[in-house]
Amino acid sequence: MERILVSACLMGRRVRYDGGAKTSDDAVFAAWRAEGRLVPFCPEVEGGLPVPRPPAEIEGGAGGAAVLAGAARVLTPDGHDVTAHFLEGARQCLAVARSFGVRIAVLKEGSPSCGVLRVYDGTFRGRKLPGEGVTAALLVANGIEVFGEDRIAEAAARLSG
Ligand code: SF4
Repeated sequence: MERILVSACLMGRRVRYDGGAKTSDDAVFAAWRAEGRLVPFCPEVEGGLPVPRPPAEIEGGAGGAAVLAGAARVLTPDGHDVTAHFLEGARQCLAVARSFGVRIAVLKEGSPSCGVLRVYDGTFRGRKLPGEGVTAALLVANGIEVFGEDRIAEAAARLSG
């Protein structure tokens, strides 16, 4: 049975910056969960950040690829640099994905780690731009297909068994 990497907050784990979860109520997601197909992972917590923690955004409206390239940092509203935690979490996530032979990931859209198509613009004003989070970028760079939690049907169509 093919395994699917998922953002831990979508599984109901209270790992978000505000101490909450973003539990998915998608029926396909629930079926995958019942099958034992899901591999939950929170890159920010595994990268060493606490719960709760200050929000963080990628500076300058850049995406995760720029962070991986050393061209942008991940900052909290008071300017604290948490880039190293985000990079460590992304590396650990890739290692876990590889250990399970994962080809597909379903990630929390909009997150500076897990966002797939959208991330916040770095101003902490609630504005999003096209772009991906740090972990999503590393997974994609290593051949893993990533889908936001609003695209589970597309992810399901890619499953091989
Ligand atoms: Fe969820 Fe990813 Fe944020 Fe962790 S880093 S709380 S898994 S969106």
